[in-house]
Amino acid sequence: MKKYPAVFLDRDGTLIEEVGYLDRLDRLKLFPDSARAVRLINMSGMKAVVATNQSGIARGYFTEAVVEMLHVHLQKLLLAQGAQIDRFYYCPHHPTEGLGLYRKVCPCRKPEPGMLRQAAEEMNLDLSRSYLIGDMPTDIEAASRAGIKSVLVRGGCLPGHTPDLPHEEWEGRAWPDRIAASLLDAVRWIIQDLEP
Ligand SMILES: [Mg+2]
Ligand SMILES: [Zn+2]
Repeated sequence: MKKYPAVFLDRDGTLIEEVGYLDRLDRLKLFPDSARAVRLINMSGMKAVVATNQSGIARGYFTEAVVEMLHVHLQKLLLAQGAQIDRFYYCPHHPTEGLGLYRKVCPCRKPEPGMLRQAAEEMNLDLSRSYLIGDMPTDIEAASRAGIKSVLVRGGCLPGHTPDLPHEEWEGRAWPDRIAASLLDAVRWIIQDLEP
């Protein structure tokens, strides 16, 4: 069976604005170049897969139904611009916060690579030709643990690049293969890197 390369996209701070525990439709804002970037992925034949940590569920800030509704809305915004996400994955857990079944050490919360591995399994993806784009050290680390290349965008820049993130957050973490100025830049680089 044919296997597909994929671009895994972090959601908050990468595809849409980081607002801190997104819980309402009216707070969901795509970055200006997000639809164009996703459309490029769609046209390249790669799968576009969102993988997002949503510990707000474990913390009791919102429910899984809210996250799923937000993803339907996000998809609608993208479709209106001719782009689409092939599948959304989220981790609702947290190792120490919250109550009940959601409070656990799980294999899906980034920097663990569980969501990427699950997607590879369910979507018949070729991880050896896949990439991840994210804005945090934990995104880049998850990619590294899954054995895929990664691109860092925006806020989570490396020490020496911008002061956005404390250097300690990079300690012991994998570094990205590329730092991009925007999501669109990141996707353009990936497409070139995949088919030089
Ligand atoms: Mg993020
Ligand atoms: Zn999880």
